[in-house]
Amino acid sequence: MALPSIEQADVSGKKVLLRVDFNVPIDKNTGAISDDTRIVKTLPTIELLLNRGAALILVSHLGRPEKKGDPAFSLRGVASHLEKLLPGRKVYFSPEAIGQPAEELAARLLPGEILVLENIRFYEEETSKDEKVRHEFAKKLCKLAEIYADDAFGAAHRAHASIYECAKILPSYAGLLLKKEIDILEKLMLDPARPFVAVIGGAKVSTKLAVLENLLAKADILLIGGAMAYTFLKSRLVEVGNSLVEKDYLSQAFQIIDKAAFLKKEFLLPEDHVVASEFSEKAKIKTVKKAIPEGFMGMDIGPKTIDRYSAIIKKARTVLWNGPMGVFEMKKFSAGTFAIAKAMAKCKGVTVVGGGDSVAALAQTGLEHKMTHVSTGGGATLEYLEGKKLPGVAVLER
Ligand code: AMP
Repeated sequence: MALPSIEQADVSGKKVLLRVDFNVPIDKNTGAISDDTRIVKTLPTIELLLNRGAALILVSHLGRPEKKGDPAFSLRGVASHLEKLLPGRKVYFSPEAIGQPAEELAARLLPGEILVLENIRFYEEETSKDEKVRHEFAKKLCKLAEIYADDAFGAAHRAHASIYECAKILPSYAGLLLKKEIDILEKLMLDPARPFVAVIGGAKVSTKLAVLENLLAKADILLIGGAMAYTFLKSRLVEVGNSLVEKDYLSQAFQIIDKAAFLKKEFLLPEDHVVASEFSEKAKIKTVKKAIPEGFMGMDIGPKTIDRYSAIIKKARTVLWNGPMGVFEMKKFSAGTFAIAKAMAKCKGVTVVGGGDSVAALAQTGLEHKMTHVSTGGGATLEYLEGKKLPGVAVLER
């Protein structure tokens, strides 16, 4: 079902409560924002609403504060940063998200102005397990505005008050970023141009089992890397030395390979590896084929695997990538992960990078602009790829 877009709403002269994901990384020492991507990606929605004469009340979370008012989790600095990104626009900050002080500030807000509310997670009602508590809290938030819009794709997998309950109370719409994320992922899952190649890596099979199961049905070729590859190899009795293996998931890994064969999907595992004698760049390092000898652990896919995976990616018409191919945080084990980014940059088809560590790795290559889409969601993207309905999206479709 189509998401109601904020572009369809008549917002002129109205107050719009906009849920955004300003959960940006903050440098602990300086308090500065170390990466403002999430703010920047929300600017099109903010600008559209302001240009159409709305007054905007922005609500977001920042981290997981344990006590209310902890300055390390305040959105005050984010509000100042936003003002710098919007020259000529007035951005106010409300130290309270609900109650009289917030209501007074919201009432005074003029069309074209912005009020940023304090971190919504300073209020335990936001994430309460009790739906009634969340709903009552959302009612207080909704007093500030006449229309609700959600652009917080990164938080769409949560049924929190400011995401789920607010959408039930006010006329509600999807922001441009949320809609774009969903449109792209939906196309990928329902009607991808083929061949559709999914590149899946990362530390653990256990966290990606559901994604792998779902992608087996949708993709044509799955390229596996990262430590999870060793659980798959071990399940087929290939020696993997001291590599990270999830022993409890060997039988599930075995079954996924079987299922891929049954569905006639290509399910490729690394054929060579960069291995180290310990989890360090200073360790003894070498490249080995197939089996990993005792005393060594797999840290990255090897050159042959890089060539094979890259050739497949370049010819694909759709590529989805989630999870690094190796311990890319250490330079000596980053070649595999960076090679995926480079191959995707050369691919003429649709290329989507699905959140989390892959996005961080991609940023290091400077190739983001070569991708069709780089998702702003980590958990939300994964849950979508697992085939789950995201509460923040489902509620807007009602
Ligand atoms: P995930 O959050 O599951 O996508 O996993 C990302 C993490 O997996 C990164 O921090 C990588 O360093 C780690 N990783 C990737 N390959 C390996 C490997 N061969 N051994 C240990 N950790 C790995």
